Amino acid sequence: MSFSPNIARLQPSATIAVSTLARTLKAEGRDIIDLSAGEPDFPTPDWIAQAGIDAIREGRTRYTPAPGIPELRAAVASSSLRQAAPGWSLDGGSVVVSNGAKQALFNACFSLFGVSDEIIVGTPYWTSYPEIVWLTGADTVFVAGDEARDFRLTPDDLERVRTPRTRGLILCSPSNPSGVVYSLEELSAIASWAKSHNITVISDEIYRRIYFGGADGDQAPGLLQLDPGVLGRWVVIDGVSKAYAMTGWRIGYSISPADVAGQISALQSQTTSNPSAPAQYAALAALSDPARTDVAVRTMVSAFRRRRNLVVEGFRSMLPHLPVLDPMGAFYLFIRIDGETGPETPNSAAWCSRVLEETGVALVPGVAFGDDRFARLSYATSDDLLEEAIRRLAARSA
Ligand code: PMP
Ligand code: GLU
Repeated sequence: MSFSPNIARLQPSATIAVSTLARTLKAEGRDIIDLSAGEPDFPTPDWIAQAGIDAIREGRTRYTPAPGIPELRAAVASSSLRQAAPGWSLDGGSVVVSNGAKQALFNACFSLFGVSDEIIVGTPYWTSYPEIVWLTGADTVFVAGDEARDFRLTPDDLERVRTPRTRGLILCSPSNPSGVVYSLEELSAIASWAKSHNITVISDEIYRRIYFGGADGDQAPGLLQLDPGVLGRWVVIDGVSKAYAMTGWRIGYSISPADVAGQISALQSQTTSNPSAPAQYAALAALSDPARTDVAVRTMVSAFRRRRNLVVEGFRSMLPHLPVLDPMGAFYLFIRIDGETGPETPNSAAWCSRVLEETGVALVPGVAFGDDRFARLSYATSDDLLEEAIRRLAARSA
């Protein structure tokens, strides 16, 4: 069977592939600790789930406008403004609600980039970025930041790879897979660089609320905290999946200038129409009662913070030959494993397979994120499982 050139270069998502394998092995009765997929282990908060159930019971089960129900678009705009810099005025016209942040990202890239464009992606990157860029026909240009800066990019790094074809830059802070967070000053410097070269910044801020670098309840720095004058062309990607434990509801969104939002909405109207109507009402409940939602988010973030400390300290004391980056947000630990690769496990994929075989601990090979020297651990699971996983890894290395 031959397939369209549209998908000739497409690789299936590695993160989803490893978690599917872990599930299959579990179903076969193997004792698996799945630290692969990045999704909160908490249930969706009750009243948010109830709003979805009520929407179904009340018959709000029909098509909605393609970019989402106006109430939700407005709620996204006002919740994004809560910690924004002075000078921003956004309304629902800047927001398109999609089937998860992944579709929002795809829509933004597909609307803005195409054949012969170059899009800069920092390494390590979330595994879907290069695939989404390739689907638009554009080329991904990878650039690795300095390891001494935990790979955070600077305008100098970006300038090294800029060409006349550079049209976009995809940033992710807090980062999946490294947990690294850009400061506001660093974001500002990158935004100014992008503006001066007419490059669109797509800022994936899906982990912004899962942040350990500030006071309780603080969010990681994001584009909307910059003075609006610093930004040229920009799109923020966010959603309810991670912060509100709603991965399966499939609600994400883009926030952008209204002309870009109009094009994204037109694309969505010709591909998937609107995201699920009941899921939009659940997301609306999450965003329109900030006081209540903040309590739920704080409880989850404090669990992530505790688990982060647990895995960082566990690795540093029991697995010192596998150094880890200090994550300041999201729920991933990026582990340097090349001290343990060798003739039998020459790369991160072979190392992760061996670890899965010997210990039942499922991790994602760093090659999926563009750096074969690493493996990624998701610590969005119970403290007990994390402790047991570290015990197993340490016993294996002993
Ligand atoms: N961006 C990043 C960095 C992610 O880790 C994820 C996780 N799936 C997404 C986007 C997509 O989120 P969603 O599940 O809402 O599509
Ligand atoms: N974003 C999560 C991860 O990186 C979920 C899987 C996916 O969407 O790729 O594991």
